[in-house]
Amino acid sequence: MNPEAKRVYPLRSYVYCTQCGRRMFGNHMRGHRYLACTPKKQWRPAGHPATIRVREDTLLTTLEGFLNRRVFGAYRADLLDLNIKALDDAAEQERLDRIASLGGRSPRTRPKASAYVCPEHGVTAK
Ligand SMILES: [Zn+2]
Repeated sequence: MNPEAKRVYPLRSYVYCTQCGRRMFGNHMRGHRYLACTPKKQWRPAGHPATIRVREDTLLTTLEGFLNRRVFGAYRADLLDLNIKALDDAAEQERLDRIASLGGRSPRTRPKASAYVCPEHGVTAK
């Protein structure tokens, strides 16, 4: 962190643009703080706007909600277990698809993890 910086953006080093993969930088405009991505035209992928800005307060509020539910919430162990099963299923399906694409036997499609409803929030996940 630069000790002479006028503003500090706590998420600055952690947020990446989903459209181009670049790290987003802190930006201040009209009284709001943003994280922004503004690649030069020659480096901009098709469909990437000239500027992408996300309000920092929105990111922080969303992150806080995520951490409160998924990391510190009462059902965190159930949600983590569900995520691990979903990752295992996805990895297994990817492996079977790869075998099939290489001319192997027709893969057996594994059943997907059953839907899960968070008892606290009613959020459904697969
Ligand atoms: Zn970008």
